[in-house]
Amino acid sequence: MSEADCLFCRIVAKEIPAEIVYETDRVLAFRDVNPQAPTHVLVVPRGHYRDAAALAAADHGLADEVIKAAHAVAEQEGIAEPGYRLVFNTGPAAGQTVFHVHGHVIGGRDLRWPPG
Ligand code: 5GP
Ligand code: ZN
Repeated sequence: MSEADCLFCRIVAKEIPAEIVYETDRVLAFRDVNPQAPTHVLVVPRGHYRDAAALAAADHGLADEVIKAAHAVAEQEGIAEPGYRLVFNTGPAAGQTVFHVHGHVIGGRDLRWPPG
């Protein structure tokens, strides 16, 4: 499943370059082009789902794989300890701008909570 005009489908298809840091048969992780912390990686299913809710509704196993991949990225980046943030902005009011579900793995600095 892919959408021709979807930015992250095009990254998955390698039509747009990205710095890929982790991949499995169903998941891809690449650095955010505008990082908000020393580590800022986006983790996406290769298939197209508009947001985390759509992904979880369609394929629980794949949602699980995305979360596990996010943790593998955090370990690889050396931020699993002391900790990192995993964020799925869901919908425009939450700041979602790319409607292909992605988890932000953010860390490597002190993170405030609530994020504002
Ligand atoms: P959202 O606001 O939808 O939660 O996050 C979208 C993220 O995608 C943003 O953090 C933005 O910097 C990132 N982004 C937008 N365009 C590109 C791109 O072409 N390549 C990469 N690697 N990241 C992108
Ligand atoms: Zn897509």
